[in-house]
Amino acid sequence: MTPFVSVLMLLLAVSRAQVTPVPDSGEEQVPDSGEEQVPDSGEEQVPDSGEEQVPDSGEEQDPDSGEEQDPDSGEEQDPDSGEEQDPDSGEEQDPDSGDELDETETEDISSRILTLNNNSAEFFLEGDLLPPKTRNAMKCWHNSCRWPKGQDGKVSIAYTVSREFGGYERQLISTSLREIESKTCIRFVPRQSQRDYISVENKAGCFAALGKTGGRQVLSLNKRGCVSKGIIQHEFNHALGFKHEQTRSDRDKYVRINWANMDQSMAYNFHKSDTNNLNTPYDYNSIMHYGRTAFSRNGRETITPLSQANIGQRRGMSKWDIQRINLLYSCKTKTTCSNK
Ligand code: ZN
Repeated sequence: MTPFVSVLMLLLAVSRAQVTPVPDSGEEQVPDSGEEQVPDSGEEQVPDSGEEQVPDSGEEQDPDSGEEQDPDSGEEQDPDSGEEQDPDSGEEQDPDSGDELDETETEDISSRILTLNNNSAEFFLEGDLLPPKTRNAMKCWHNSCRWPKGQDGKVSIAYTVSREFGGYERQLISTSLREIESKTCIRFVPRQSQRDYISVENKAGCFAALGKTGGRQVLSLNKRGCVSKGIIQHEFNHALGFKHEQTRSDRDKYVRINWANMDQSMAYNFHKSDTNNLNTPYDYNSIMHYGRTAFSRNGRETITPLSQANIGQRRGMSKWDIQRINLLYSCKTKTTCSNK
């Protein structure tokens, strides 16, 4: 009896000893903070870009981007773009594609773009617009900088994607463009021999030229932060001919610009443009609207909406963003009705 009991107690004590100090606090933390960061930030990106705004894009986007993102998938990573991709780019992709995608909810599209562009040697207008070669081009509403429409009623825009982008990035660029296509008459087609085209490149920042410039025009999506749906669509909207919402000619009725919170040298970014607003309302929700602290020198607001509104979203194009493309290019789509 006694020995049996004491053996039992011994066993109990041993098992307790094993259970209590189970080092869950110790070990579980390590992978969390260290290694999981990459997949983590990657994952968040998908739901972000999918966000409710675009019911129809859901199907293509999630399943694909999910798979390709896997850091291990270096070799097989891009089924559809295999031809162009150079063999080296597999390695480079992983370190990049992970950590830039920290999707803090509070960060808006402009802070992201402006932070990234800050280190660029390029000079930008309004933060991410390449200055035009000719002065008039900044007012691009009348034909010259619009992309031409074909006889089929579609506006075909040729583009290339640099080999520096890996499979996941190419996929995201592709789905972001397909979404624009699905709601407009714009068609982004892989370049064959077109003279005018958009060259998507991994330059120092997120930026684009306004409208069609003629010849090859660079649209930069830096791999360390610009490859997200909102930014891709934002930059492509510039290439279609759209400027920032807060520089609209009528913006003072909708936002207050707080000049004191920016450096004088940045003030030009807030000068109003003589824009053609296509008879559409001022749109706080536009993907082309900068956020409250854009170009701030002190963290305080530089742009304050005059009504209750969130500005600076980067989930994707708003209803009016889409409508404007359809109006500017006279797309004959269901959404073209001008009275909507
Ligand atoms: Zn912009």
